[in-house]
Amino acid sequence: MKTMAIEPKIINDAPIPTWYGVGGRADRMIVAESDEQVAWAIGTGEPVRVLGEGANLLVDDVGVDGFVVSLRSPGFDRIEIDPRSHMVKAGAGADLRRLITVTSNAGLAGLEILGGIPASVGGAVCMNAGGKFGQISQLIAGVRVIDQHGCVRRLGVGEIEFGYRCSGLEGLVIVEAEFALVPEEASKVRARFRDYMGYKKETQPLAENSAGCVFKNPTLLESIEGVGPAGSRVSAGRLIDLTGCKGLSVGGAEVSRVHGNFLTARKGACARDLIELMDEVARRVFDRFGVRLEREVVVWSRQA
Ligand SMILES: Cc1cc2nc3c(=O)[nH]c(=O)nc-3n(C[C@H](O)[C@H](O)[C@H](O)COP(=O)(O)OP(=O)(O)OC[C@H]3O[C@@H](n4cnc5c(N)ncnc54)[C@H](O)[C@@H]3O)c2cc1C
Repeated sequence: MKTMAIEPKIINDAPIPTWYGVGGRADRMIVAESDEQVAWAIGTGEPVRVLGEGANLLVDDVGVDGFVVSLRSPGFDRIEIDPRSHMVKAGAGADLRRLITVTSNAGLAGLEILGGIPASVGGAVCMNAGGKFGQISQLIAGVRVIDQHGCVRRLGVGEIEFGYRCSGLEGLVIVEAEFALVPEEASKVRARFRDYMGYKKETQPLAENSAGCVFKNPTLLESIEGVGPAGSRVSAGRLIDLTGCKGLSVGGAEVSRVHGNFLTARKGACARDLIELMDEVARRVFDRFGVRLEREVVVWSRQA
């Protein structure tokens, strides 16, 4: 039997693929094939950043130090369905769309609510991806993670502090997620999956280079007339829209005209353009409404 080398192949000065299609490179990248290879990277003591599909990520033009660890390998791509318990285990590197397709076809309902969200399983769990139809945390039974000491741990859903677009798992490497799904006729699950995808296509500029919503929807500390009462969570896109930012640009970065919370990167844009545009939009929203927008997009930069 072929044994897996624990020390992974290191790629120096590696490009970091993100949905923005701009930004800097990784000093060192590994495409991990096993828990041991992830633990190896952690054991070097260097900063470790985990890359999913780069759909919620902006990398500063100066790139990043330490190790970028990608789990997009056959070792983390498995999807296992237990037909009796309706539990599904998926490797963190598996593509979310593939997972939804496989489970829908197997007559298991739940994950189709995430239709149209580009993600790896690990990235979706880390960000608690979701939207109008629900979020991934409502389907999770547990996760397998590798902690800061390189130890493998299993966390049940009760031990995970999911919140709005966060999981409390930041700082851990998610290597597998387990989902509790519900049996239903496959054609019905597939039909809902198609409907949810259709909704996303109608309302968001999916064909442009973006990372989806840049800012989290804020909870209002005070009532704002025409926006919402104190304590309500309101659409960041609506606030941006009301501030007149649609179409605003810095260099090659632009606030989408389709959806105010999407910033798009044109050819020739750089990460700095996007960062400056994010800051400008947040500043205008604060000046107009007194609301501080918090970034949903993760921005990587050098630590040193
Ligand atoms: C067109 C478009 C539409 C979108 N629509 C939505 C939407 O409707 N709802 C929504 O929630 N999001 C949406 N997003 C954002 C994005 O799809 C989600 O945030 C998704 O969960 C990102 O997954 P990823 O694998 O690409 O993660 P990445 O972007 O690669 O990483 C995001 C963060 O997760 C961490 N991470 C990734 N994998 C792991 C892992 N295995 N272990 C630990 N940490 C990890 C990274 O280190 C980083 O901090 C959209 C993005 C685009 C481009």
